[in-house]
Amino acid sequence: MDTVTTVSGGSGLVSGPTRLLIDGQWVNAASGKTFETRNPATGEILADVAEGDAEDVNRAVAAARRAFKGSWSRVKPNERQMILLRLADLVERHFDDLALLDTLDMGAPLSRTRAGRQRVLGMLRYYAGMATALHGETIENSLPGDIFSYTLKEPVGVVGAIIPWNGPLSASVWKIGPALATGCTVILKPAEEAPLTPLRLGELCLEAGVPPGVVNIVPGFGETAGAALAAHPDVDKVAFTGSHVTGQKIVQASAGNLKRVSLELGGKSPDIVFADADLEAAVPGAGMAVFANSGQICSAGTRLFVEQKIYDEFTDRVAKYGSNLRVGDGRDPDVQVGPLVSAEQLERVTGYLAIGKQEGARPLAGGTRLIDGKLAQGYFVPPTVFAGVRDDMRIAQEEIFGPVISAIPFTDIEEVIERGNATTFGLGSGVWTKDVSKAHKLAKAIRAGSVWVNCYQAMDPAVPFGGYKMSGYGRESGLQHLEEYLNVKAVWIRTA
Ligand code: ADP
Repeated sequence: MDTVTTVSGGSGLVSGPTRLLIDGQWVNAASGKTFETRNPATGEILADVAEGDAEDVNRAVAAARRAFKGSWSRVKPNERQMILLRLADLVERHFDDLALLDTLDMGAPLSRTRAGRQRVLGMLRYYAGMATALHGETIENSLPGDIFSYTLKEPVGVVGAIIPWNGPLSASVWKIGPALATGCTVILKPAEEAPLTPLRLGELCLEAGVPPGVVNIVPGFGETAGAALAAHPDVDKVAFTGSHVTGQKIVQASAGNLKRVSLELGGKSPDIVFADADLEAAVPGAGMAVFANSGQICSAGTRLFVEQKIYDEFTDRVAKYGSNLRVGDGRDPDVQVGPLVSAEQLERVTGYLAIGKQEGARPLAGGTRLIDGKLAQGYFVPPTVFAGVRDDMRIAQEEIFGPVISAIPFTDIEEVIERGNATTFGLGSGVWTKDVSKAHKLAKAIRAGSVWVNCYQAMDPAVPFGGYKMSGYGRESGLQHLEEYLNVKAVWIRTA
């Protein structure tokens, strides 16, 4: 059970570990159990992966604590930087295989996973740079006499990182990168749907010189391994990305030792198109704001508000755009939309397709699962555009996590601000207009962590990303991300 070997459909074989990484060693789960991971495009079993549970989490946390208290705490920032740079080089060298592993394990097409290259490498090199740029401050105080004060920025300690399946490589790097940059140690719990790339990244971490216990990887299920990590009394921080329902459980589980928590959760993001927008850009922009990754992106712009006077024309154009996208097995480099990640997700999304129709929305494109030929073996839902959607419909309120646009008409700016914000979430948002004053007004008025104007889903390692409201708290990317992994200590020195 050491190696997974999978036919890649063109690029040869790809292989990687399938056991737990604890204290620098590849080990079986204490229970001896394994679980299957499948290719969602074909339903084929890719590998049996060790199924970590509470006992394995205990072992991994103990190893991470030993490393944190031991030699890792004496590793200088520039050495951590070099480790991250070596890791970036290794990821670069093996990028095509990592992208293919993501494609095989969670279905996103190669056209997408390969395009993640710059982002993933950029993140690793950004965190490498930050490793030597972190510092406390000297702060002038107003106390009488000679007493001097300054702050130290110290790693928060042992971090439990729990990630979803919708971008396994980038999600892993988004957690391991800041941990290594700040001097934390980490136990990464990949999603049960897609553990292979995180495990392969673990192997590259060892090759890059990450010392034993600093990066541990424990695949397993949420209710067992994930819950154990969230509740563990010796974990100092949990960095979680996933659904808001699980986020609430994580917060509850964290109460035992009041561990630090950062949460990047779901969304029902408004994407607002004004009649004065450059429609040539807005049509594919609004389409890919939802169809990219088959809609399995937490900040997808799923509530498409379109100004009434262009509503029919615009929704028709987005529907045509969606219908022309090539859906299929993501190993085909021409495919633009892959399968949903699992049978469970397929059931959820097709359930919403039925709900949308029952509620009276009209599918202009898509609307039913694809079952032609080979597609029947996988979990394929085509790009779907629902017109005639009202704010009170479930498809306009609930996160679907599929390639489903709910297109809603609006007439004026104040109204669309009000309706755009009428959601419990606040992760992403889009605005399409040529009018700079409208753009600024909305950028201020929308209650969400990101506002994309005349673009959607732009991301950069230096620019913070995160949620308002029930989309979570804490930020990833940017300086603030590093702060999430640091404690601030005030030091007072009486010098007289
Ligand atoms: P999704 O619905 O997108 O799969 P989840 O929030 O269920 O999102 O899963 C995201 C991650 O959270 C996965 O790694 C999953 O195993 C983990 N997880 C699920 N339930 C729990 C839980 N109760 N405690 C901790 N982690 C969990």
